[in-house]
Amino acid sequence: MSEKHIRVRFAPSPTGPLHMGGVRTALFNYLFAKKNGGDFILRIEDTDQNRYVTGAEEYIIESLKWCSIEFNEGVGIGGPHAPYRQSERKEIYRQYAERLVISGNAYYAFDTAEELENMRKKLEAEKAHNTSYCAATRMTMRNSFTLPQTETQTLIRSGHPFVIRFTMPADKEVTFHDLIRQSVTVNSSTLDDKVLFKSDGMPTYHLANVVDDYLMKISHVIRGEEWLPSAPLHVLLYKALGWESDMPQFAHLPLLLKPDGKGKLSKRDGDRLGFPVFPIQWKDTATGEIFSGYRESGYFPGAFVNILALLGWNPGTEQEILSMDELVQLFSLDKVQKAGARFDPEKAKWFNQQYMKALSSEEITTLLMPMIEELKINVCHDYVKKVVDAIRDRTVFLKDFIYNARYFYSSPEEYDAQLVAKKWNSVTPGLLKSIAGVMEQLEDFTASNLETKVKEWLESNGIGAGQAMNALRLAMVGSNNGPGIFLIMEIIGKEETLIRIENALNRLM
Ligand code: GLU
Repeated sequence: MSEKHIRVRFAPSPTGPLHMGGVRTALFNYLFAKKNGGDFILRIEDTDQNRYVTGAEEYIIESLKWCSIEFNEGVGIGGPHAPYRQSERKEIYRQYAERLVISGNAYYAFDTAEELENMRKKLEAEKAHNTSYCAATRMTMRNSFTLPQTETQTLIRSGHPFVIRFTMPADKEVTFHDLIRQSVTVNSSTLDDKVLFKSDGMPTYHLANVVDDYLMKISHVIRGEEWLPSAPLHVLLYKALGWESDMPQFAHLPLLLKPDGKGKLSKRDGDRLGFPVFPIQWKDTATGEIFSGYRESGYFPGAFVNILALLGWNPGTEQEILSMDELVQLFSLDKVQKAGARFDPEKAKWFNQQYMKALSSEEITTLLMPMIEELKINVCHDYVKKVVDAIRDRTVFLKDFIYNARYFYSSPEEYDAQLVAKKWNSVTPGLLKSIAGVMEQLEDFTASNLETKVKEWLESNGIGAGQAMNALRLAMVGSNNGPGIFLIMEIIGKEETLIRIENALNRLM
């Protein structure tokens, strides 16, 4: 048998922003396709109209783009199996649902919401083994198995609402192979008669997903572990539709766990625990709530991808910093683990720092300039580059060069009260005035010359350096932050240094 051409898909539902776990699923599909010279398809699964969220599809596409996870077929770009948005494929699914009815693998059901609720309550009260619509209850409900054939036909013809349900076998071992979990067996008695086709004329996820994977010639279904319980139904659907020999291989990726390892990392966790769980910022248009994103938090897309790649996969070596090309070369599904992958936000920062270190100061400056301009901070490229050189070793995110280094761009507006209480006393003003006098004379305003001259003066006057340094830092920065104080003064320059001393003297007298 010839090897099947590799075709994988990322099939998100546009029900909200894409969680980082979803981006990892997209990434693993992409890496697998690239590694094997295959195709990577983006399919939008929007059959559940009640859960449709405006803007989610655009968000998904923008997120993938930011991460450089490129698909070569799908929504927005088209391809041989277009359309790739399930709502636009609506007409395709019904014939397959009907085919299943004809073969007895599915049936029409007419139960009202109330009847379904009563059934569930009754089964719960009886402590039934399976409390859903299934082989054990099917014959007590209103469906094409229990109603006379003529009645079923009349109901359908008269436009009475119906759904089509899968005829789940009563007691059958369903076994399939998962590339990560090996052999998986589930007894069908634990499964229910899932709705395949809804009263609104739309298929459910299960039917649409299987039909599209088949029609789009998908070779491997790589998706999150939360879909593992649905896989037996999908396997049975392939068989019932006569597509068993074309059934894709399955790989269910491990869950992403919270930093403490306890439980799944959920959409709500990020902002609660102090790190983003979304690739890019998301604004909930209904509530106005903003959910932070890695992009806006200052992560490099390469670092974010690198972090995701190592959540549940490893290259089999100690190497941690991996470019997209390296990931493509090294990726294989057999190095994906079964166990949940704990997300460590501190390690995530470390990754970003490593990506920062790999950039030259010139490159960092080029990335910073648009941000600086947008904030209308009036400094030039060369000036910013000096700032970058001065603090790059202590910086994790690009924005730190701005927000953690405001003192490079303006005189302090406020002075740390605790520090003032501790370090500013009656002799400080006189001392600063004298130091300002020394500095005024200097032609050469470099850090090293400043240091030499100020320290010489302090020594000849018998004044401890510590006291003077603290006062200078307070005047220049307003707090305890920043690199060497002489370096700060060199960068901001003589004029600004003297202005800041003056400001501090006026404000802290
Ligand atoms: N539409 C499903 C989701 O939102 C896709 C699951 C699958 O890949 O089969 O995750």
